[in-house]
Amino acid sequence: MSQTYDIAGFRAALGPIRVEDNPVLMRQKSRDFYWYSPVLKRQLDHVCADLIVTPQNESEIVAVLKEAHRLGIPITPRGAGTGNYGQAMPLSGGIVLNLADMNHVKSIARGRTMLYFINGHLMSVLIDDHPTMFVDHGVLSIQLEGRGDNTASFRNLWLKNLQ
Ligand SMILES: Cc1cc2nc3c(=O)[nH]c(=O)nc-3n(C[C@H](O)[C@H](O)[C@H](O)COP(=O)(O)OP(=O)(O)OC[C@H]3O[C@@H](n4cnc5c(N)ncnc54)[C@H](O)[C@@H]3O)c2cc1C
Repeated sequence: MSQTYDIAGFRAALGPIRVEDNPVLMRQKSRDFYWYSPVLKRQLDHVCADLIVTPQNESEIVAVLKEAHRLGIPITPRGAGTGNYGQAMPLSGGIVLNLADMNHVKSIARGRTMLYFINGHLMSVLIDDHPTMFVDHGVLSIQLEGRGDNTASFRNLWLKNLQ
């Protein structure tokens, strides 16, 4: 950490927004796969956030960003922390914005059109206009690509028939 920040003031202003200051968990959430590189391993091993903040929705993100900006506290957004080059590491300390809980996925398949939303935002529209391969019935499936050493899971799945 190169500078100290008013973390206590920041925390007080956040109210009920979820934060984590357990040193072990803060260290864990302050790293990615930087250690793939012996150079980065040497240079970034000491890096650690001053606080981990885990917003649950967009308005909590806005509140966190507003307060961090007011107090001049650096923010590092983090997904799952699988980046390979220290991108998700708080190089100047400050806050890791842990977005792990912001992973609400919704897809709507109707006729030839499939809509895909993440956290309420439309991310893609897929129109299947193939003349012979398109099928208008069947089972909707979800697939996650991964490697043998990764674990992926879904929870809270709801299926709703639109007809
Ligand atoms: C074993 C392994 C295999 C991999 N294989 C592949 C592969 O086959 N193909 C491939 O493309 N990549 C691969 N990667 C790289 C890795 O999966 C990608 O970098 C991934 O996109 C990182 O996602 P993340 O959510 O973990 O982001 P993080 O590692 O947490 O962050 C990556 C960057 O995105 C920023 N960020 C994260 N969330 C947000 C957000 N919500 N808003 C704004 N910025 C954000 C972070 O600040 C950081 O700069 C692999 C990594 C590992 C460890």
